[in-house]
Amino acid sequence: ENTANKIAAGEVVERPAAVVKELVENSIDAGSKNIEIEIVEGGIKSIRVTDDGQGMSHEDAQLAVKRHATSKLRTAEDLAAIHSLGFRGEALPSIAAVSKFTLTSRLQAETLATYVEVNGGIIADIREAGAGCGTTITVTDLFFNTPARRKFLKTPPAESGHISDIVTKLSLSYPQIAFKLTSNGRLTFSTGGNGRLIDTIADIYGHKVTPELLPVEYSNEGISVSGYVAKPVLLKSSRQWQTFMVNQRVVNSRMLAKALDNAYFSLLPKNGHPLAILDIQIAAEAVDVNVHPQKKEVKFSDDQKIYRAVYKAISSSLTSPVS
Ligand code: ADP
Ligand code: MG
Repeated sequence: ENTANKIAAGEVVERPAAVVKELVENSIDAGSKNIEIEIVEGGIKSIRVTDDGQGMSHEDAQLAVKRHATSKLRTAEDLAAIHSLGFRGEALPSIAAVSKFTLTSRLQAETLATYVEVNGGIIADIREAGAGCGTTITVTDLFFNTPARRKFLKTPPAESGHISDIVTKLSLSYPQIAFKLTSNGRLTFSTGGNGRLIDTIADIYGHKVTPELLPVEYSNEGISVSGYVAKPVLLKSSRQWQTFMVNQRVVNSRMLAKALDNAYFSLLPKNGHPLAILDIQIAAEAVDVNVHPQKKEVKFSDDQKIYRAVYKAISSSLTSPVS
């Protein structure tokens, strides 16, 4: 069981940023309005995620660190149309197998929280504790018991860059949630959570960026594409400033990046990468999020249709008269 967890951990938890992603997605699934992420030394020393979501009962808190104890998939049909970010019940046990892990969680209706402590996959303590509503998870000394994996970590600044990148993308995909990221006690960024994407973009990239953005609004054949793409004055040197979402879920997709590039640079000389935040909305049945252990890559049932929609969305936003 513990070996299985360590192996699973290799797939789910390749670096601190992957831990942050799993924890923050759980906080989002729990209906949180405020999520705070605190990292020390690029998350290698410690990661703490605090949320004000629904919390867990005493039983659920104990179950959460056990394998395949997801509370989110109830039927086989659920798997065909996944609406929550998590669905495998693998993340917490995998993370707890390769770190010193604590979970404190309290339901609104309860007066006491549950505290669970796991060291390298072994439950060390379970007790009641005082705490506010919601959940706090701490992950300390990641890979302390898997030295081979620890060796593959980059420097703390490089690891914190990965974390900042994933928290940025999650913040952009949930403008209605207030996020706060601190690194070694210093604020990296925070978002207001007022529900407006343009304000979240300003919170993250600065207020100078937003006047240089063009809105993207496109809808056809059951696919809609929305968000913002930067005017050509704001080309960046890397794709880091591009966020793609499918049904509000952050994804990596070469196809989407290519559709953006090909549309964008069909009229302009290719000279960098446009900042872009794009959400593609399609029927849940037309997309498979289950192909990648970290759920980062998606598979569409009709790639060409999506490509064409993104291409047209970008073309029309670049060519329509700017107000
Ligand atoms: P999954 O997200 O795939 O269900 P996880 O291992 O990430 O699996 O989490 C296991 C379970 O623990 C979740 O299904 C959920 O019930 C509970 N859980 C984890 N994090 C939180 C949180 N921040 N707030 C409330 N419940 C949580
Ligand atoms: Mg999860």
